[in-house]
Order: sequence, then structure tokens, then C-alpha cells
Amino acid sequence: MAHVPHPFASPARTRLTVIRANIFTATGDKPFYGAVLLAGDRIAAVGAADEIGHPDGARLIDAPGRTLIPGLIDAHVHLAYSGAATKAAFRNEHAELSYPAIALRAAGYARATLDHGITAVRDMHAPGGVVIDLRDAIEAGQVDGPRIKACGRGLTVTGGHMDQPGWGDQTHFEGLTQPCDGPDGFRHGVRQEVKRGADFIKLNTCGPAYGGPGAWCRLEMAADEIEAACDEAHRWGLHVASHTTGEVPLAETIRRGVDCVEHAHFTDDAVIALMAERGTVLVPTLLVNERNFELDPAAQGVPPRHWRWLEASRDAKWETLERAKEAGIRIACGTDAGFQVAHGSMFWRELAYLVKGGLTPAEAVTAATATNADLLGIEAGRLVVGRLADLVLVDGDPFADISILGDPGRLTVFKGGRQIRSGGGGHDICLDHMHG
Ligand SMILES: [Zn+2]
Repeated sequence: MAHVPHPFASPARTRLTVIRANIFTATGDKPFYGAVLLAGDRIAAVGAADEIGHPDGARLIDAPGRTLIPGLIDAHVHLAYSGAATKAAFRNEHAELSYPAIALRAAGYARATLDHGITAVRDMHAPGGVVIDLRDAIEAGQVDGPRIKACGRGLTVTGGHMDQPGWGDQTHFEGLTQPCDGPDGFRHGVRQEVKRGADFIKLNTCGPAYGGPGAWCRLEMAADEIEAACDEAHRWGLHVASHTTGEVPLAETIRRGVDCVEHAHFTDDAVIALMAERGTVLVPTLLVNERNFELDPAAQGVPPRHWRWLEASRDAKWETLERAKEAGIRIACGTDAGFQVAHGSMFWRELAYLVKGGLTPAEAVTAATATNADLLGIEAGRLVVGRLADLVLVDGDPFADISILGDPGRLTVFKGGRQIRSGGGGHDICLDHMHG
């Protein structure tokens, strides 16, 4: 090949990489054999292999039979939590670990997450807001991990969901969560998280109730509190995500301005119509509910009435997903990793559940890349020119067997154009030819 400057090459010292593989752009196109040119931390070109060629000085990764997809994104994680399977273990961790210790442990989970091809996450609450500090440490290059959008601490009413009802009243944890009361209290809560550096606001608008069909969920935040929190967050340019389940809580939460609903089990036609009208995003978190049924109920410490709730929501979540897909609602992909779900290694199972729930494998991967990137507000998630070069080169065809995405040994991961790990049974060196 002639050593002429490539039209896409930027001058002097920009790191260039060409990857030839089956390319899934997450823009609605079918995978095609072609090439992607990375220049620095961005995607500089996508097209036919002979069109992209091999620019002078570029590293060439020639990977026929492999699939190049955008870096995966988990829209719902808790890096501060270990994935402990029992309520007692979860509580012990809070009692035993200082917030700095939680943050240091979270750095390990962040690395494990990245190693599984997950190049960005949305962190949905951390004690002490410590994941904001982890985000900054990753951005500063002090530790390796995915890009993080963090809410700091989730907002809840006193005694509500995540204000840890059921602890002995002698137990007081400073800053474990962010209880607020009244519209002014929620405005203050939003501003406190903004001050801390939050990227978005997490509300916990409801908790489980045990009244049976139609009354499985109780709205805990008052309507004016939800409205004040959303108004304040939007004034700061932040989106609002809400832990909400149940027909009445969902309708009220969405109507009052929440942008994205987490879990959202138990819907009816009115809720779905409202979501469609408002453009609300759904994060169905299918795996975390299923995890309850893989673990022993007695060991988990789940009381019988809550077990009945879990069984009801197990059915309800599939119905929500089906209705949402039918109505064309944007479906994002989040695992709730940290709650009975391991960081990184279980992510592929959420994709598999989305497929079980009626999405095609391509739709599931698009949810976890393009849709999640839009939700996080990051310039990744699609293999198009100008986007961040967050990529996963998969050894095989994940659209034929999505479980491949669970095997880090088959994933070569790039974040911002930098190769984080190689997955190819130790043969990666054979893929890599320096040139020029
Ligand atoms: Zn969660």
C-alpha cells in the first residue's frame, strides 16, 4: 500500500487503528463486513474495508469472523454494592464498611464491569454519593473503569424505599440515602446532589404494598414532591429517573415529570399510553427480579408477604415489557448490578431476558448501546463517525448466541480508542499488525 497521508488521518501523533470485522452500528442496519477507523478517542470512518484501507502508521486489527459492536452500557447499576444475595449480608456491609472502603471496593467492581465489555454505566444510588468520586477518579485516569453517570444519593421520603425501613431505630447512618420531605425538601435534596456533582437525579417514588392485584405498590412521594423534584432537576439540566412500580404510582410519577422509569412492573393501558405520549424511557430490570427465584427464599430473609409480591411482579414485568414494545416505547437495558446481581459477569443475562421478553438480539444490543447512550447523554453507543471509540470486538456472532457476551475471554474491549483488554484465546497478537 502506498504511503500517502490518508484522507481521514489527522496530523501528527494521533493514534490510528483500523479494525476489520463484521460491523454492527446500532443504527438499525444489519451487520456487514467492513472496517472502522479510530483516530484518537473517536471513530473517524466506517465503511467498506477497501474504502477505509490502511492509513500510514495505523495499527491494523484484521478480525474476520468477529463482530464489532459499540461498547455495552448498563443503565442501572450500584457500584457501591457487592451483589450480596441476602438481606443480612447487605445490611452487614453497611454496618461494617466506611464510605471510603465502599468507594475502594467499587473501583474493583468498575474494573470488572469494564472487563465484560461494559464501557459506560449509570449509577443509581451510592451511600455517601461515593460513586461520584469514583467517576472523577476514572475520568482523571487514576483508576480504570467504565464511563460513569452518577446520581450520588437517591432521594426518598423519610421512611420510604431506600430510607431502609426496618432497621432498628437506634441505627443511624449519616448520608446512607437522601430522605426529603415536602416540595421544598425535595428541591433542597436535588440541589444537594447537584452540589455534590450528580449527573442526574434518582427518585424513589414508591415501595411495595401487599394489597393484591391493583394495590401491589404504594406511592410514597406526594404529587407536589415529585413535581418539585422534577422541576428543580430540569432547571439544572438533569434528567430524572425513578424507581417506580404499580399502575397508580407510575401514572402519577410520569405525569409529574419523571423522564425514565426503573423496574415499572404492574402497568395498564393508561400508563403505557402516558409513557408513549411523554416519551418516557423504560428500564425493565428483568434479571434482578428473576434472581430472587434462583436463590433460597429463607436464606434471602424475604418474609412470605413480600415473596408473594415478588411472584406477582415476576409475571407483571413481562407484561410491561410486551406492552411497551408494542407501543413503541424506548426500552433501555439495566441490570441493577449490586443487588443480588454480580457486576459485569451477569450483564449478558439481562440481554438474554430482553430477548426472552420479545426483543430480537439486535434490538436487545441496540437497547444496551444506542438507547442507553441517549439516556446517559454520552457520545457513544453507535458506530458512526464522530462518536467516542468505545467498542467491543466479539469473538463470534452475538446475534446467533448472545451468551458469548458473558465470556470476557471472547471480548476485546476499547474505551476512547484505547484497548483495555484482549479476548481471543491468547491469539490477539496475531490480529495486530503494525504498519508504516
Ligand atoms: Zn437499583
